[in-house]
Amino acid sequence: MGATSARRQPVSIASPATRLAVDGGTPVSPEMIPVVSARLGEEEIGAAVEVLRSGQLRQGRKCAEFESEFAAATGADFALTTCNGTTALQLAYEPIIGPGDEVLCPAFGFIATASMILARGAAPVFCDVHASTFNIDPADAARRITPRTTAVVATHLYGNPADIHAVEELADRHGLSVIYDAAQSHLATYQGRGIGAFGHAVTYSFYPTKNMTTGEGGMVTTNDGELAQRIALLRDHGMELGRRYHHVALGYNYRLTDVSAAIGLAQLRRLPERTARRRANAARLTELLAQCAAVVTPVATEGAGHVYHQYTIRLHLGRLRCSRDEFARLLAAENVGSATHYPRAITEQPIIAERVPAKEPMPVSEQLAREVLCLPVHHDLAEIQIERIAEAVAKVASARST
Ligand SMILES: *Cc1c(COP(=O)(O)O)cnc(C)c1O
Repeated sequence: MGATSARRQPVSIASPATRLAVDGGTPVSPEMIPVVSARLGEEEIGAAVEVLRSGQLRQGRKCAEFESEFAAATGADFALTTCNGTTALQLAYEPIIGPGDEVLCPAFGFIATASMILARGAAPVFCDVHASTFNIDPADAARRITPRTTAVVATHLYGNPADIHAVEELADRHGLSVIYDAAQSHLATYQGRGIGAFGHAVTYSFYPTKNMTTGEGGMVTTNDGELAQRIALLRDHGMELGRRYHHVALGYNYRLTDVSAAIGLAQLRRLPERTARRRANAARLTELLAQCAAVVTPVATEGAGHVYHQYTIRLHLGRLRCSRDEFARLLAAENVGSATHYPRAITEQPIIAERVPAKEPMPVSEQLAREVLCLPVHHDLAEIQIERIAEAVAKVASARST
């Protein structure tokens, strides 16, 4: 009986432990410097409780307030809350991309950027990335344009904006729409303007590991009022604003709750200070790692304000007697957490290889997948922890140098 009931214990397939493994983080012990910090403060908790007490739980006034502050913070005219970053991509793609369209996208990054193109019934056309910025290489993208190409999706990976100037020039030359996946890049800038100022639509995620969180949540920004209206329609079952049960489009329920929006508002108000901390931590790490020949430190795209969602180093594997994964294990033994975003190019993911058979290799993306390692850079680190991280990296690198 005891054994039977133990076996019947409900198991959550998305327990925090499982999710940590999914996020690629090393296990956390008290002495370990963690690679992410997702603790909420009293302001977030108070704001959420206030909404809970009000009884107004669904998408309402808090979502509207969150949208207008987020639009202002990112330099966009319109912002629309959604229930996560993946549905933000779907809502941005659906009005812009049609079934059968070819859509340029990077071969390196998180799968959702590409998988939601497939979900739309369109064809992702993978492009290689720049080794230094980790973002789509517009010259490589240009080679892949055909008469069926209608859009380009560029990710601002790790908080570093893509080469927006080159992407937009390419798009203008070929009449392509431009969508940016900024799930990792809230508050990033390009040529002094918020990244929400560029492209037809920009998508964001508020998953707990991102620079700001609502638990689960997402946003789409755009400067096109008609597109904003279309997205609002799709988000809510195609129901015309103010006309209950009058459905004029095939839509979804991708709404955010006011509880989440209240948390998001509090997080957004902290974000400028936290972003400044990330930037200072990144600058300090780069300074401390400058002499470490086995490590390439990250650089921002020219003209971009990087927000260091991740501080991603590349390992010179030719100068080391170990793999990246072994390097990460040795760092963990020094109580320094790290994470591998991402261990495979998107084109190397089994389901992508099956659905979009590769015509040629993606040399840079595939090499990055073997070399990249993300070190802690979040706002919650003390100066002494930054020094410990750099010391541990230097120690492991020198122990394994060829
Ligand atoms: C996190 C992330 C997403 C997906 O966001 P969710 O909120 O987890 O659905 C999409 N693209 C990129 C680049 C991401 O980092």
